[in-house]
Amino acid sequence: MKAIVQEGNFKLYEDKNFPDPKPDGKRPIVKVEYCGICGSDVHSWEIADRTKGLVMGHEYSGIVVDPGDSPTLKVGDRVTCSPITPCGECEWCKMGRDDLCPQDYYSPGTFFKEVPGAMADYMQLGKSAYVKKLPDNMTLRAAALIEPANIGLRACQSVNVEKGDKVLVAGGGIIGVMSAQFAKYFGASYVAMTEVNHARAKRALELGVVDDVFDPTEEGVVDKINEKIDGGYTKGGGFTKFLECSGSPAALNFGVSLMKKAGKVSLVGVNWNPVPIMTVVVLLRQLTMVGIMSAPFNGFDTVMKAASEGKIKLEELITKEIPLEVDAVQAAFEELHDPKNDQLKIMIRIGDGKTK
Ligand SMILES: [Zn+2]
Ligand SMILES: [Zn+2]
Repeated sequence: MKAIVQEGNFKLYEDKNFPDPKPDGKRPIVKVEYCGICGSDVHSWEIADRTKGLVMGHEYSGIVVDPGDSPTLKVGDRVTCSPITPCGECEWCKMGRDDLCPQDYYSPGTFFKEVPGAMADYMQLGKSAYVKKLPDNMTLRAAALIEPANIGLRACQSVNVEKGDKVLVAGGGIIGVMSAQFAKYFGASYVAMTEVNHARAKRALELGVVDDVFDPTEEGVVDKINEKIDGGYTKGGGFTKFLECSGSPAALNFGVSLMKKAGKVSLVGVNWNPVPIMTVVVLLRQLTMVGIMSAPFNGFDTVMKAASEGKIKLEELITKEIPLEVDAVQAAFEELHDPKNDQLKIMIRIGDGKTK
């Protein structure tokens, strides 16, 4: 089969004779239809020494060709799967927090070249217990976005976004947009976004996922924002929830400075370096901060329900579609590597696009 493989040194190559996955009576095999490129794929491509030889891809949809040991799957089912492969037995898994499972390393397309991912014609899933059949009214193209949508859902759940909340989202990338959608879904009365990239800001407004987008570097912006949040902190107002999806220290501190007392902050955006923060602001306002990484698999059900009821957008967030060809995929990685890029989601089409 064909697969796109990491060569290291910011390079990918195409292997037309990559070994087909072999049925083992346990792990189901799918014919991959769509695979999104994630920021973590790009990061792994940048530091590819560890993942040399890996076939990436953990946001995908496909058609079952071998159900493995699943009692419910059958050949031809349209599915998506957890990006990690939890053990299903530890204390975390038992309480529905499989995102905290320590045994998630054998996750396709993520860590080890021995467990290839979805940038290929076929792939073997981690475990049949972590596969979801798609609702009839959801396309395979939309389904490849369930995984990043689940991160947005988790961001909201981590700070319990609820009816009447005034929510700030920092960053208009895919996770920021997903988080904003779920903030509305949970009944937030006002959702604002900070974004310095004007193309991203414009798109978030056009998608209708936020009420306002502000450029935090613009003069007088704090007064403008405070008008929308009951006069801001000095007048007893402010944002009640803040979903930091950019990983930028400036965005974090800017957002924290706009919080209402006892507000809750979710750290979603990844930054691999130490980040300075005005802790005195956190102390004075008695804020709660929580970090998230990945999301529990049971969130897939909520995402599929919200999407099939038309309450969140998925397919509309795809900004580019490319075929599974090395030149196109390499160019897409290079584009996403540029911090100024304004893509939301680049989707790789594996099949002919005719299977819906
Ligand atoms: Zn991802
Ligand atoms: Zn576990």
